[in-house]
Amino acid sequence: AKTASAAYQSALEVIVAVEPNVAGAIRAELADQRSSLKLIASENYASPAVLLTMGNWLSDKYAEGTIGHRFYAACQNIDTVEQLAADHAKALFGAPHAYVQPHSGIDANLVAFWAILAQRVESPALAEAGAKHVNDLSEDDWQTLRKALGDQRALGMSLDAGGHLTHGFRPNISGKMFHQSSYGTNPETGLLDYDDVAAKAREFRPLVLIAGYSAYPRRIDFAKMREIADEVGATLMVDMAHFAGLVAGKVFTGDFDPVPHAHVTTTTTHKSLRGPRGGLVLCQPEYADAVDRGCPMVLGGPLGNVMAAKAVALAEARQPMFATYAQNVAANAVTLAEGLMRRGARLVTGGTDNHLALIDVSTFGLTGRQAESALLDSGIVTNRNAIPRDPNGAWYTSGVRIGMPALTSRGFGAAEFDQVAELIVDVLSSTTPAAAPSGGSSKAKYVLADGVAAKTHAAANELLEA
Ligand code: PLP
Repeated sequence: AKTASAAYQSALEVIVAVEPNVAGAIRAELADQRSSLKLIASENYASPAVLLTMGNWLSDKYAEGTIGHRFYAACQNIDTVEQLAADHAKALFGAPHAYVQPHSGIDANLVAFWAILAQRVESPALAEAGAKHVNDLSEDDWQTLRKALGDQRALGMSLDAGGHLTHGFRPNISGKMFHQSSYGTNPETGLLDYDDVAAKAREFRPLVLIAGYSAYPRRIDFAKMREIADEVGATLMVDMAHFAGLVAGKVFTGDFDPVPHAHVTTTTTHKSLRGPRGGLVLCQPEYADAVDRGCPMVLGGPLGNVMAAKAVALAEARQPMFATYAQNVAANAVTLAEGLMRRGARLVTGGTDNHLALIDVSTFGLTGRQAESALLDSGIVTNRNAIPRDPNGAWYTSGVRIGMPALTSRGFGAAEFDQVAELIVDVLSSTTPAAAPSGGSSKAKYVLADGVAAKTHAAANELLEA
């Protein structure tokens, strides 16, 4: 890895000759990432093999269509890499079908939603009208179908419980496609309440039941979610964007592995899975044809270079070393969570059994915004996040989300994560809210006691250099 990194750095000279500021930003990003504790739960460090696979001639090729069935000539090499990525994805996750073209997690979800609508609403309408393709429908039948497509319901986890915008919320297109309702978590335990999900599903009768999260620190019982979906005739869609690495590494197995239970599973490839930025969709055979129509339905031409990098990352994830990595991520999360709680921090749900933890920073008298900023000043990169029923809303928040995938990739183990817990609690207990200048919000202002930022930064660097 060191040689590859040195070779990459010298190759940056090619960029310097064209736009030195871009090369400068790349070098600065590397320096920033090396000198701070990266605890953002959705980030990781892709391997040099993955990074190299993204920067090459596969990027220049147009290849709309599917493997062996392209609307462009000379796509044999794109066919090769797309097939490899799909095969690795199927083998890694034990999925009947994989579609690796989505450019991101949002795109993967959009492909999944349209595939579900096509399979559940469009296909029956076509059959009823005796048509094979939407273009064969009469104008009247087409208008009826459009109305039916726009009249469907989706049920997903609420944002403050850890759900994601793409699960039917208004700022995302999914909230405009579907009538949406959400389930939350138990006010006392903070845990997902399956009886409540079932009751909401019975009342709301969604076409799609969505499971998955960005900030819920626990595993989900997907066998139970499937039972609920089956009872109300919903399609179960699981968005495992955050925890795909834990599924790949067999931390989540049996009822907690979404792939055998969901009709459609989506993911990003760059978070705990440690690949290039991108997405993919896994599905049961009956959804495969509709999923494969992602491009041109909602996606532009596939990115050959990124699909190739997905193939490399998925091949890495099939190695025994990746399973060890995933187990370490989960073990490190427990160490950090326990280290934080032992030092007086309150965690949403009282712990974790995945790759992340959510600190309720109100017990330190802070908003999430103040805590995030004080930690950043001290070389600890986290992000603020709403907690269930957050009085400070989604902008200032009362929580800070921390994730272990990136530092585990850098080799951190139990001893290091316990020290990270100490540093975090030290910074939070040395931070106090401050008055805002007139007109500003005091929810963003804070004072960090003298010397704490520098001392913590130095301790962070020591951990990183060890
Ligand atoms: N789904 C979930 C659960 C996520 O957490 C995210 C990203 O934060 C996404 C989807 C969107 O992924 P992307 O940013 O790659 O579009």
